[in-house]
Amino acid sequence: MATEKSTPNSTVSKIKQSRKKEISVRNLADGIFKGDKAVLAKAITLVESSKQEHFEKANSVIEECLSKPNESIRIGITGVPGVGKSTFIEVLGKTLTSLNKKVAVLAVDPTSSLSKGSILGDKTRMETLAKDPNAFIRPSPSGESLGGVARKTRESIILCEAAGYDVILVETVGVGQSETVVHSMVDFFLLLKLSGAGDELQGIKRGIVEMADAIAINKADGSNLKKAKLAKAEFSRALHLYPPKENGWIPKVLSCSATENTGIREILEMIQEFVKVTRENGHFELNRKNQNKNWFVQTVDEQLKLFFHQKKAYKRIQQKMLKAIEENKISPFYAAQVLLDDLTKELK
Ligand code: GDP
Repeated sequence: MATEKSTPNSTVSKIKQSRKKEISVRNLADGIFKGDKAVLAKAITLVESSKQEHFEKANSVIEECLSKPNESIRIGITGVPGVGKSTFIEVLGKTLTSLNKKVAVLAVDPTSSLSKGSILGDKTRMETLAKDPNAFIRPSPSGESLGGVARKTRESIILCEAAGYDVILVETVGVGQSETVVHSMVDFFLLLKLSGAGDELQGIKRGIVEMADAIAINKADGSNLKKAKLAKAEFSRALHLYPPKENGWIPKVLSCSATENTGIREILEMIQEFVKVTRENGHFELNRKNQNKNWFVQTVDEQLKLFFHQKKAYKRIQQKMLKAIEENKISPFYAAQVLLDDLTKELK
């Protein structure tokens, strides 16, 4: 079989052709502003790409999107697998769309990058909501690090908001630090819990309760109803032990049944109340600004680390220091200092 010989010229023309087919930043932004789901999905794919040329284009699209004012609410939802997150999000999402709100569902699932497969990635989830014209569902981006996944999700939030989505639901599962990163990109953080036998507070990470603006005891139905009431009382007591939040909001405990669609409206009303309170006292805006500043600092830190790690001199000096440490010739702290001094000298 004859194979086409690839000359530099044919390669250039191929690149030109594929570039022509690529959608421009302007068209992407306009499509997003029109609420075109296919264009939104394309833009998110661009944000998720790790190619340098995509990175620059994605940044331009994000910049365009940032200029579009919106009044969105970002809600983080977490809970162990099986607690009912997708069932809950589906019914919450449908309730919102029935109120004429547009809902986007994003996810942060650090397991999606690992070979064992994702916890949240099941395609059959939220089937009804997925068909709703006013809903947009996107599975978790994959990436080598939680930081990378988080950045991509954060930027996708901006794109969804520019596309007119009023409520952004960010789902996560309590793996590693995933709850903390989701907390740092949302306005309201909801923890879903189950009522179970024994001490309700056992086995729950203290930091998560501290982060939660509300705890919802799901599966409060059938024979579980009584246990759910007890769990609700117990969590309410426990929450009182925490110091009050700076934003003036007192975290609430509610119960619901995602399958029977009970308690969902109350949760929504509570979130609306939260938004009202924090918008009035200025903490809603303040929190977003602080989140942006933190993300900036964190991104610079990550990029600086990457910058140095990629330098050949870094690896060489690091190896030298590791050997010296192994031979007990230098203390680890002094070795770190030597590495930084030598590296800055070499990079000058
Ligand atoms: P996720 O892993 O947290 O996303 O949980 P799913 O939404 O997939 O739900 C896990 C199982 O719990 C499914 O079989 C659901 O039907 C069931 N489930 C979810 N919510 C409720 C509820 O409110 N009551 C009852 N009885 N079952 C529920």
